[in-house]
Amino acid sequence: MEISAVIPFFNEEENLMPLYKRLKKVLNKISPYHEMIFINDGSEDKSEIVIKKINKNDNKVKLISFSRNFGHMAAIHAGLANSKGKWVTVLDADLQDPPEVILKMFKKAQEGFEVVYGIKTKRKEDIFRRILFKVYYILLNSISYYKMPLDSGTFSLLNRKVVDILTEMPERNKYFSGLRAWTGFRQTGLLYERDKRYKGKPASLRRLFNLAFDGLLSFSYIPLRISSFLGMIFAALAFIFILIIFILRLFFQIGIIGWASTISTVLLIGGVQLITLGIIGEYLARIYEEVKKRPEYIIKEKIGIKN
Ligand code: UDP
Ligand code: MG
Repeated sequence: MEISAVIPFFNEEENLMPLYKRLKKVLNKISPYHEMIFINDGSEDKSEIVIKKINKNDNKVKLISFSRNFGHMAAIHAGLANSKGKWVTVLDADLQDPPEVILKMFKKAQEGFEVVYGIKTKRKEDIFRRILFKVYYILLNSISYYKMPLDSGTFSLLNRKVVDILTEMPERNKYFSGLRAWTGFRQTGLLYERDKRYKGKPASLRRLFNLAFDGLLSFSYIPLRISSFLGMIFAALAFIFILIIFILRLFFQIGIIGWASTISTVLLIGGVQLITLGIIGEYLARIYEEVKKRPEYIIKEKIGIKN
């Protein structure tokens, strides 16, 4: 098998057929030995039926169905784990990642790269999301220990070596684009214009925030460091403050009467403590998730894939 395409989908009934047609042309150009693995992440619409129909006419189209919605990242990893290709490409089902770009990625990979990832040149989302993304990527890069390519998402082409490493990782909370960068090897970006979603609605902001948190926390301990740092600053300030009070009291007989200063200090320190606890809690929750060792996803049905 030369190339596998991994396509996670959640309620994309109107997009799957047009995607299949465009992707088929592209894969045929690369090699007749290809497969498309569609992962149904608990869709509630007719998406699954669409794929089953396509599979009847084209046995290179395969389906993995989850028992419920497990999330975009889990779906990608199920696809990777079941792929057979020497090369594996991951793309969204809503045609935001134009399949034709895979040809360019494939060409680029032949120059000796194990990973070619897409870099979005123009985002066609609304301005609010664009700003959020920008801020997030800057934040991610400034705190993470590994260099993360800016503005790159899941759309990419990976060598089998990298795919095997990713699927063998024991962690459960898999943040795909971060882990992909983390594996190392020769990686390169390829500029592409990200299209508008073909049909249907995009992910909710809540889902994006969850992903963003995973990205920030799974590649850095800096948020914890910031907590310790804030703690030290406030302890130092408190120490200086106490010293000043003592000196004023002992040598100048001035007692500071001030409800306002007391209450504002208490509130400020209280706030910082809560934020700090929150950050610790975020990591703790992730540790808890990992130690429970529940599977990343549950497969209800596989079509065209032997175990
Ligand atoms: N998706 C998924 N599970 C989910 C949500 C989304 O597999 O719970 C898929 C979706 O069908 C699409 C891709 O992940 O193929 C990206 O989702 P979406 O377009 O909603 O997000 P955005 O493009 O805004 O990042
Ligand atoms: Mg999309």
